[in-house]
Amino acid sequence: MTAADPVAPALRVDGVLFDVDDTLVDTRGAFVHALAAVARRYLPTGPERDAEILSVWRADAGGHYAAYTRGEVSHEAQRLARANELHARFGGPALDEESFAEWDGVFDGTFRAAWARHDDADDVVDALLDAGVVVGALTNAATAYQQAKLEATGLDRVPLLVTVDTLGFGKPDPRVFLEACRRLGTDPARTAYVGDEPDVDAAAARDAGLVGVWLDRPGARRRPVDEAWLAGVTVIRSLSELPAALAA
Ligand SMILES: [Mg+2]
Repeated sequence: MTAADPVAPALRVDGVLFDVDDTLVDTRGAFVHALAAVARRYLPTGPERDAEILSVWRADAGGHYAAYTRGEVSHEAQRLARANELHARFGGPALDEESFAEWDGVFDGTFRAAWARHDDADDVVDALLDAGVVVGALTNAATAYQQAKLEATGLDRVPLLVTVDTLGFGKPDPRVFLEACRRLGTDPARTAYVGDEPDVDAAAARDAGLVGVWLDRPGARRRPVDEAWLAGVTVIRSLSELPAALAA
């Protein structure tokens, strides 16, 4: 489709920025494998508690990943802290820096091998590009990690525009959204940001002046949702709903 094609929907945006983890890439699915490998190696629990372990990991009640995205601690330090909190809760050994290196080999090796894109990611990227919309990625993880993830999942035609390395901090700071729009070449008010977290993604994008879109995949919520996050936010249940949700 082109802009002149009568069947092409008129959209209220010129650009779409995507979150990577749990939006384009099924990161939660990869964590299932990585945490199961860790549990079998380090925890006394059986597979019947793997779902609980995944839930605790994703909730990150200690806020360690958020501290990393504020530039306060290193990626390694946040992962070590989370590994030790997980072990303390589920009966694993306390890890020091040396034993953590082996732990992270198990975790990260399994995690990377399990990276896969969501089934709806490819088609939505193609549909937007066909409609003349520019696309890019804005993510709260490191550049090298996320570039490898996009390449491994066949999504590297989505340029990685801003990461936590770009400015030294990440979402929900409004400056990262505005920097991503600058690099995309679009007016923030004519740019959508699509992510799986209602606060850090959709509400933060809205507050920065973008069109905030919350991807509320069935069964994927990390924590209870505050209705205040959703005021003025567009909610979709699948990426396949995005083009229609962005119709003018
Ligand atoms: Mg995400």
